[in-house]
Amino acid sequence: MSQDAEETRAGRRPERAHTRIAIIGSGFAGLGAAIRLRQRGEEDFIIFERAAEVGGTWRDNSYPGCACDVQSHLYSFSFAPNPDWTRSYSPQPEIWEYLRRCARDFGVLPHVRFRHEVREATWDESARLWRIRTSVGDYTAGALVLASGALSEPRMPELPGLENFKGRAFHSARWDHSYELKGRRVAVIGTGASAVQFVPEIQPVVSRLHLFQRTPAWVMPRNERRFAAAERRMFRRFPALQRAARAGIYLFRELFFLGFRHLPLSRLIRRVALRHLRRAVPDPQLRARLTPDYAIGCKRILVSNDYLPALTRPNVELVTAGVAEVREHSVVDREGVERPVDAIIFGTGFRVTDQPMAKHVRGRGGLTLEEAWGGSPRAHLGTTVNGFPNLFILMGPNTGLGHTSVVYMIEAQIEHLLGALDYMKRRGLAALEPRPEAQAAYVAEVDRRMAGTVWTAGGCASWYLDRTGRNSTLWPDFTWRFRRRVARLDPAEYVASGPLRGGG
Ligand SMILES: Cc1cc2nc3c(=O)[nH]c(=O)nc-3n(C[C@H](O)[C@H](O)[C@H](O)COP(=O)(O)OP(=O)(O)OC[C@H]3O[C@@H](n4cnc5c(N)ncnc54)[C@H](O)[C@@H]3O)c2cc1C
Repeated sequence: MSQDAEETRAGRRPERAHTRIAIIGSGFAGLGAAIRLRQRGEEDFIIFERAAEVGGTWRDNSYPGCACDVQSHLYSFSFAPNPDWTRSYSPQPEIWEYLRRCARDFGVLPHVRFRHEVREATWDESARLWRIRTSVGDYTAGALVLASGALSEPRMPELPGLENFKGRAFHSARWDHSYELKGRRVAVIGTGASAVQFVPEIQPVVSRLHLFQRTPAWVMPRNERRFAAAERRMFRRFPALQRAARAGIYLFRELFFLGFRHLPLSRLIRRVALRHLRRAVPDPQLRARLTPDYAIGCKRILVSNDYLPALTRPNVELVTAGVAEVREHSVVDREGVERPVDAIIFGTGFRVTDQPMAKHVRGRGGLTLEEAWGGSPRAHLGTTVNGFPNLFILMGPNTGLGHTSVVYMIEAQIEHLLGALDYMKRRGLAALEPRPEAQAAYVAEVDRRMAGTVWTAGGCASWYLDRTGRNSTLWPDFTWRFRRRVARLDPAEYVASGPLRGGG
């Protein structure tokens, strides 16, 4: 690679260039799209990544105890099985390394422009291409793939007085490893999927841990184990074995959907979670405060064997009164109790339903995605949006999951993207977008499937719901149904504009 090209990749030098396909983000989605493009012989694409390394979620979340909660045999690319997972649920360093290895081994790295933050992308109707403004320079692209992540922007609660806090405060997704927690008094705000993983790790180290819980979560046992070296050798020698393990996990997890669909069945899952809680927390008063009053699955189910026991330790206090204010050296709850703390750690999750990139992507006529959505994201097949030609959103509206691997969904969407690009190439088309009636029918179908599920009838207000109260986050059915519907492009659902005219 020339020095100029090297400097451009490193983000030190702007470049003006056209590419056939621009991908924003290098997590599972962006890398998966890039790998599949290369496997089809496509080399004319660029990945814009604002950070200095690939990996997305698995680069940014390095908090103690960070791991996946879907078994790794399934939570990985179908085309890149990894026989070397050391545990059934891999820890973050292994998943990040897996993604870096995939980027390297599948020849994707030369396509990545690191430290290139995409600031704005605007559809140019006359040139039939996307104009992309990055922190380093301007680009144009025939198609735009939004792979910027559904869980990549940490959500910070607005706490009165936080700006005056004199101790250390950080979000779990931006863990401050330079801060020594040993012997400190720590407030943890939030009890979601991340807190459940880091609380048991820091509890033995800190002197005092005040855990601020707004709503208790359902916690299921985590059937985790180490893979023996012999087992890993078997997976390497007989890949069919690993494929079979993956298929088994997939089928087992799909069964959970039945519980989400049929509330009576969810009571079975609930019984397992209640027994888990009873065994871990003998004190009935503490247990009562940790028992959710909504149907299991309504909010994300958490899996952990050591979270609940950690809450019974003498240095831990569960606070359910809510935070009223933060002072220079303390946190005050709504009952007026002031607790002196050295650090505040936010386990408050991510901005999911108000996708940050939606403000910066402008379709035909200059409307942003955010404006087009009006508070409730909608897309055809969760992937394409009328008025936004040649835009493909990976992990778009209603593609999230509460029970199994989103990599499965991402791969289905990537096949749709490839189908669309092939179709356009074959027909010499410049632009493709879903017909408004096809999109409306699909969204209505999703809403119909959603009705009566635990996510709408489960009696909770979760981060799955947008500000209009609609669940625009989750796919409300078996995932194979999504794949069957999405992986193939049906040209009848799309409107193509114009033959290719230069540039596009
Ligand atoms: C702690 C944690 C554990 C999880 N565990 C599981 C699990 O067990 N199973 C499961 O199915 N899912 C899990 N998830 C969900 C997880 O986010 C997805 O599985 C998956 O990693 C999402 O990949 P992605 O590529 O869509 O997004 P991300 O991994 O978030 O990647 C997005 C990338 O886009 C980049 N980017 C964003 N905006 C811009 C911009 N403007 N310009 C340039 N680059 C930009 C970001 O820097 C990032 O690299 C977990 C999430 C978290 C946070």
